[in-house]
Amino acid sequence: AKEVIVIGGGLAGSEAAWQLARRGVRVRLFEMRPRKLTPAHRTGKLGELVCSNSLRSKEITSAVGLLKEEMRRLNSLIMEAALASEVKAGKALAVDRELFADHITRKLEGHPLITIERREITEIPREGLVIVATGPLTSEALAEDLKRFTGEDYFHFYDAIAPIVYAESINWDKVFKADRYGKGEGSYVNCPLSEEEYRRFVKELLAAEKVPLKEFEKPRYFEGCLPIEVMAERGEDTLRFGPMKPVGLIDPRTGKEPYAVVQLRPENRDGTLYNLVGFQTKLKYPEQERVFRMIPGLEKAEFARYGSIHRNTFVCAPKVLKPTLQLRAEARIFLAGQITGVEGYVESTAMGLIAGINAARIIHGKALVVPPPETGHGALIRYLMEADPHHFQPMNINWGLFPPLDLPRRERKRFPKRERYRLMAERALTRFYEWLGEIGEA
Ligand code: FAD
Repeated sequence: AKEVIVIGGGLAGSEAAWQLARRGVRVRLFEMRPRKLTPAHRTGKLGELVCSNSLRSKEITSAVGLLKEEMRRLNSLIMEAALASEVKAGKALAVDRELFADHITRKLEGHPLITIERREITEIPREGLVIVATGPLTSEALAEDLKRFTGEDYFHFYDAIAPIVYAESINWDKVFKADRYGKGEGSYVNCPLSEEEYRRFVKELLAAEKVPLKEFEKPRYFEGCLPIEVMAERGEDTLRFGPMKPVGLIDPRTGKEPYAVVQLRPENRDGTLYNLVGFQTKLKYPEQERVFRMIPGLEKAEFARYGSIHRNTFVCAPKVLKPTLQLRAEARIFLAGQITGVEGYVESTAMGLIAGINAARIIHGKALVVPPPETGHGALIRYLMEADPHHFQPMNINWGLFPPLDLPRRERKRFPKRERYRLMAERALTRFYEWLGEIGEA
């Protein structure tokens, strides 16, 4: 039978099912709710939002605004539902979560090509085309089974996300490039702290407001990947002997090792993003800005991703996925949603959309497609493919993931940030429309 099995009726699974059905493909959608709930879901509705009711910025000069515009262009069901259930929230697209999920549920239940079965799937079907979209709280049995296709090492149950800052917002006069003991190519950027700066930093870190852990998130702490503030609680010098240790790092301006160091690691090949190494944290976002801007060189840091730690099921995408979102190990199986290694409602939905389109193309005997990196969808997929597999952590969309604009150096000053983002968004949409034409999806 020419049908596709979609496991998980959350954001990505609902979108994937819709994209398949729109293309005339029969879908069997499995959702375990309401019989079995995840620790975060409350209802049996398809496309339930588990937390905030905001799909973030509507502005095209924001990367997530651009991504939503691309999705709208592909007749996204999630976008349709969001616009139909929108509540006023300034520049953000916020929704009435009940109306939102009702809209999605009604559309999928009413579609003649979609059959919905309410039960937990504990094993990936051993044949046929399958899209796994079971999300950050994938049920245990299915996670165990999926691990067999990805390998133990490339399947994760928790994330430990360190903040990422834009390279252009670093004060390069205060930092120095060096690898420990001069080994390597000097790709790490080091922010040196004096004793006084270090003590003040630790004090503020300890006093900062944290996001409380949910009950089902607690086990994280037993896995040896502690939040920076929890490490700091163990003693004033713990960080200086841990992630902030200065050994082997000579500041060329003083010829000495600083008292402590925060290391930044390049996050992408374009060198537009830097990761604060070892700084996974549960600090509230505004507190991250306040406290981490105390680090010399980061006084004006702009954050592309904030740090966080969640219970989160995801794979090491650069190792296990193809850019079409198929598993390398078995091409008839697609992953979609947060499990692919993206983070966020919109990003997860976008990965459902691409998986849905590609699975439909297999049924129709068409070549599979990968969106170009200048587009929002393409930038996310490029991250999944090109991120360093040794340090892979989920990512939300941000402008640092896009190829930089080709502006002559002396002209850059003439383009303030907002103007550059507008140019990047225009480039993205032009390229996106061209691409839809090229692949016959316009
Ligand atoms: P989901 O929307 O979770 O969908 C997965 C579906 O699969 C669920 O309906 C689940 O019941 C079902 N399922 C799981 N296992 C099985 C199985 N074995 N058989 C059948 N069905 C199964 N992102 C934001 O942008 N903003 C937020 O505020 C936000 N808050 C979050 C809060 C929490 C507690 C969590 C865990 C995540 C949050 N996220 C947030 C991150 C993420 O964007 C959302 O979780 C998003 O819903 C992910 O979409 P998805 O389709 O991948 O997974």
